[in-house]
Amino acid sequence: MKPFETVLAELSDDLVLRDRDVIGRFTTDFRRKFSGDSPALLRPRTTEDVARIVSLCGQHKVALVPVGGNTGYCGGSTPDKSGEQLIISLERMNNVRELDVDNLSVTVEAGCILSNIQDLAEQEQLLFPLSLGSQQSCQIGGNISTNAGGVSALRYGVTRDLVLGLEAVLPDGSILSNLSPLRKDNRGYALHQLLIGAEGSLGIVTAASLRLFLAPIRRVTAFVAINDITDLMPLLAKAQQYTGEAMSSFEYVSRASLDLLLDKKNGLRPPLSGKDQHYILMEAVTSSPVLNLNEMIECLFEDCISDGIVVDGTIATSERQRRDLWHLRENIPEGEVLHGGSVKHDVSVRVSDMARFVQLGTALVERYGHGARLSVYGHVGDGNVHFNVLSPEGVNCSAFLDLIATEVSPRIYDLVAKMDGSFSAEYGLGQAKLDLQRTYGDPTKRRLMSSLKALIDPAGTLTPGKVVEQASYEI
Ligand SMILES: Cc1cc2nc3c(=O)[nH]c(=O)nc-3n(C[C@H](O)[C@H](O)[C@H](O)COP(=O)(O)OP(=O)(O)OC[C@H]3O[C@@H](n4cnc5c(N)ncnc54)[C@H](O)[C@@H]3O)c2cc1C
Repeated sequence: MKPFETVLAELSDDLVLRDRDVIGRFTTDFRRKFSGDSPALLRPRTTEDVARIVSLCGQHKVALVPVGGNTGYCGGSTPDKSGEQLIISLERMNNVRELDVDNLSVTVEAGCILSNIQDLAEQEQLLFPLSLGSQQSCQIGGNISTNAGGVSALRYGVTRDLVLGLEAVLPDGSILSNLSPLRKDNRGYALHQLLIGAEGSLGIVTAASLRLFLAPIRRVTAFVAINDITDLMPLLAKAQQYTGEAMSSFEYVSRASLDLLLDKKNGLRPPLSGKDQHYILMEAVTSSPVLNLNEMIECLFEDCISDGIVVDGTIATSERQRRDLWHLRENIPEGEVLHGGSVKHDVSVRVSDMARFVQLGTALVERYGHGARLSVYGHVGDGNVHFNVLSPEGVNCSAFLDLIATEVSPRIYDLVAKMDGSFSAEYGLGQAKLDLQRTYGDPTKRRLMSSLKALIDPAGTLTPGKVVEQASYEI
């Protein structure tokens, strides 16, 4: 009997699903870049179930891979091809354990879908601000484990900034219970922070206490064309100033990304009639009934038009128009998929270096890209851009993208490193970026990460081969 069969035999039938069709939903990643196999999907209902599963896997040295909504971009939740790694999904752990309106906090189980948490907050006139294109399917456990960023990080921070406390099952089956929703708590090491962004390598997140905010009651959304890429940061500075830092999103959309989307998806209309090269989708929100955001934005426009930063623009006058503008921004990844895929570079540099990075990166693609197309967009207000390279029309996408990955990507990552930036801004490492970590990661940090992994998960049973280099696996 194989060790995983022993584990499965010891678990109650209710926890084990062997349906090949259901398992198949989790053995390939969202972008179809990674695929593997697994004999079973484990579906706990309680933290104690998770603890039992993890203990058994540890005892019998069976690898266990946590999966959330399977929307990650780095293959973190895809098992390997051995067919012996078990997958664990917390989809049935989707209860709200506590909502404390006065404390502006909510404690939820890790299998809750992100949009359900947003809806729950909204019903109480509150806001859970984490917002991603995948929010209808990703789970808060996955968001925490990838430290997801999204479109509101400018004002509210990334997932790490929204987590007050965590509950997690550690590789030895013990439960780290640190769910206290206190704003200040300095009782020694903030161990729960280690689990955030660990992509399941140090423990399985089972619940979290999250920060809530007062719901915005006024919102202004604008789509503007800027004169030149170098106008990005002057516009951001002015936008922050005029709105008293109420700016929650500042998203860049290149003409190339917009054209790609309009080309590939029917029924979409460009928000502006001109053929400008650079656009910003910006949104400011306030929970104050007296702050006049429209007036602030009009003053901002007046100033930026008069000094030539903004050349065209539109302000959404209805919720429908607002949604349409966001729909365009959020559908760019789908436009890339419809084109045949892209080589993604999810990178960050200092906000003050963003325009220079886009200019230098574009020059690299023009010089070494064999006629490649670019799709550049992203959360530039946070210094994070998705600098994606696509094949020219009519060229075999997959062969071309392989060429780009070997000839162009290293140059882009070298540029990021020279600018002191990050080769993974918000998607993590998973199995996709381990080689980049080897090339560009700080050696001391890598060594410490390996030591921590060895200390917390000595048998290496939790999602082996991802995030961290392990000297050897016992399994
Ligand atoms: C259309 C689209 C738009 C996106 N936009 C953004 C964006 O703006 N910003 C951004 O940051 N990301 C974005 N993403 C990427 C992705 O949605 C996020 O990384 C998200 O946080 C992943 O959550 P998930 O539940 O799907 O996790 P999965 O993909 O299932 O897993 C991700 C990682 O977390 C681990 N994991 C999952 N659940 C747990 C758990 N309970 N305990 C421990 N480990 C766990 C997995 O093993 C894996 O390593 C986008 C993806 C898509 C498809």
